[in-house]
Amino acid sequence: MIFKKNAYAKVNLFLDVGALREDGFHEIVSVMQTVSLCDAVTLCTDGATGGLAVESDGGAPSGRENLVYKAAEAFFSAAGIPPRGVRFTVEKKIPVAAGLAGGSADAAAALSLLNGRYDFPLGAEELLRVGANIGSDVPFCLTGGTCVARGRGEILAPVGTDLRLEYLIVNGGDEVSTREAYRALDGVGERPHGDSDAIVRALESGDAASVRASLFNSFDPVVTASHPLAAHAEDVIRSYGGTPLLCGSGPSVLGMFEDCESRIRARDRLASEGYKAFICETA
Ligand code: ATP
Repeated sequence: MIFKKNAYAKVNLFLDVGALREDGFHEIVSVMQTVSLCDAVTLCTDGATGGLAVESDGGAPSGRENLVYKAAEAFFSAAGIPPRGVRFTVEKKIPVAAGLAGGSADAAAALSLLNGRYDFPLGAEELLRVGANIGSDVPFCLTGGTCVARGRGEILAPVGTDLRLEYLIVNGGDEVSTREAYRALDGVGERPHGDSDAIVRALESGDAASVRASLFNSFDPVVTASHPLAAHAEDVIRSYGGTPLLCGSGPSVLGMFEDCESRIRARDRLASEGYKAFICETA
């Protein structure tokens, strides 16, 4: 049997990083949204022999190092089912280590596919708990839509919005280790904080201009200072009238524009300079 699922990237329209906790995680407040840029995860359970196998293209590791493998192991352990002849293929389109939660999205898709294939041995709460142990963004990727995320990102509250937003997402090809980005942020003393209520209100009332005016990411100044490709992408987006924001811990950058033509012109310009550039929308 073959099952296939899209694994959607996420953007943080708002990401305020608070204090470092005793468990080594940071307390965050974030507004996250799934966007149409996606990988495809395929589960094949035809094989009667062998255990678990994961193959990936596009710069993500195959085998045990892939988050899909870790998700599958965690699923089988929680469900008490031995993995037999289970093969995953991951087709990557989401840039890797880019602040778009591609690995978490793939892991969430794998959990959902397995749970469906084996007739739902795990309830929704249990699936979220298993997901949170794989990565802080996995619960959001399982939930999808638009959410306020708190804690280390696993405490989720949906935002009621019908607003469909369009984005330019660009990536210059360099990678950012999330851990190092947090370390760099911890090195900054006093830093500004954003107003999450303002962006939630803007989303709820369907006011795209106010969403754009409320974009915030604590990592933005720190990561653009050490990643010239991200800083340049932000400058180009501004020069076409857009508002740029670092995606998660970077180095991808999103741009929100008032009109479609400017978004396309900025996309073409950055693509001509060698950036991966995607026009996508709220998924
Ligand atoms: P986050 O924003 O959740 O920190 P990210 O988008 O910055 O994540 P990912 O693309 O999820 O980063 O990749 C993080 C690391 O995970 C990379 O070093 C990559 O090698 C590894 N990885 C394991 N499995 C995958 C996968 N299926 N897709 C992408 N990366 C994966």
